[in-house]
Amino acid sequence: MGEMSPQERSQELFSRARRVSPGGVHSPVRAFGAVGAEPFFTASGAGSRLRDVDGNEYIDYVLSWGPLVLGHAHPHVTEAVERAVRKGTHYGTPTPEEVELAEKVIALVPSVEVVRFVNSGTEATMSAVRLARAFTGRDLILKFEGCYHGHGDSFMAKAGSGLATLGLPSSPGVPKEITQLTLTVPFNDSTAVGEAIAEYGGRLAAVITEPVVGNSGLILPQAGFLELLREETRRVGALLIFDEVMTGFRVALGGAQERFAIEPDLTALGKVIGGGFPVGAYGGRRDIMSRVAPEGDVYQAGTLSGNPVAMAAGLAQLEILEREDPYAALEERATKLVDGIVAAAGRFGVPASGGTAGSMWGVYFCEGPVRSFDDALRVNREFFNAYYRECLAGGVFFAPSPFEAGFMSTAHSDADVDETLSVVGRALAAAAGR
Ligand SMILES: *Cc1c(COP(=O)(O)O)cnc(C)c1O
Repeated sequence: MGEMSPQERSQELFSRARRVSPGGVHSPVRAFGAVGAEPFFTASGAGSRLRDVDGNEYIDYVLSWGPLVLGHAHPHVTEAVERAVRKGTHYGTPTPEEVELAEKVIALVPSVEVVRFVNSGTEATMSAVRLARAFTGRDLILKFEGCYHGHGDSFMAKAGSGLATLGLPSSPGVPKEITQLTLTVPFNDSTAVGEAIAEYGGRLAAVITEPVVGNSGLILPQAGFLELLREETRRVGALLIFDEVMTGFRVALGGAQERFAIEPDLTALGKVIGGGFPVGAYGGRRDIMSRVAPEGDVYQAGTLSGNPVAMAAGLAQLEILEREDPYAALEERATKLVDGIVAAAGRFGVPASGGTAGSMWGVYFCEGPVRSFDDALRVNREFFNAYYRECLAGGVFFAPSPFEAGFMSTAHSDADVDETLSVVGRALAAAAGR
């Protein structure tokens, strides 16, 4: 990779942006605050690479925070979007595209019999919880520490003191009356789940989880954990909601539910489903979904839902994934990257551990295994930040936080991974002071 130019145009744009938008961004993590850096502004993307407004190129492992499993500007997706947009952008009536994408989702995701499109993952999880509450006639939900389900009020909850207590708001502006309906327990902690269900099971509408946690690094479910959630929810008459906004069409074509062979009652989808456009979805058992308006009495609506351009992009991306079934190859390449980073860290005496699930991957700069958010908090953040900034300066774009999953796309080549590992080696040396 060549010399990087100074990020003059990015800096100028960022100072303009800070005058007109909170923190200069439209989603907090994009400000790079956690790693003590400033964002680059992107001019374009192609395949595995991004180009910033100063002409610098980066190998991209953020991939729009998940959606772009085929990389940037995949020709099949781009052409589908061009064809769709020439016909008009949105009509506010049903279109053939939304029927086609719905049929595709139902064919691919094992537990989904009926699906409703929304515009983001946040809307998908909020709507799934509303539906679960209506269906069960109960108000409490249980979630896991370190899982992110979008920014709906119900999910902005942190654990109170002690296990199995009702939640406290994790953001100002969220009434405690709302988070008191949300129980939060550690992921992979069967005992805590047992305690929470013993105490609150009869009042529980749903347990919601990321089946593979991608929002505090990458945490895999331990053997039997998802099975326990499935059995316990069924036993107490609560619904099991898989938030597959990140894992859907990413850890396998049918998502984590296919990979681990567990059927949730409801599933939230987003990210990959829209092929880089704002699409979310929630779906599941027909008897539950039939409660959604206008078939049923649970209200949920959206002016731009089922947008035909977004549907065309999502469909085009899923067609390629279905045809090429790239998941084993993606995981192999992700494993090569993770093993390479962990081995390089070892050479500098830096403790590290990592894992993969399909095209999701994660590395923690701490001793493994990392089974929960508390484990993840052991990472050496100062070291990560120094390492991170060196990687970025070397033209490798990882998520700017030690608590985010990385992604791998079908556009990433072995040469990209080799180039990344040589940048990583130099970054680790610099961060370790060697
Ligand atoms: C990204 C994400 C969301 C939120 O989706 P948005 O489209 O950003 O609203 C919800 N759940 C999970 C697991 C996610 O990764």
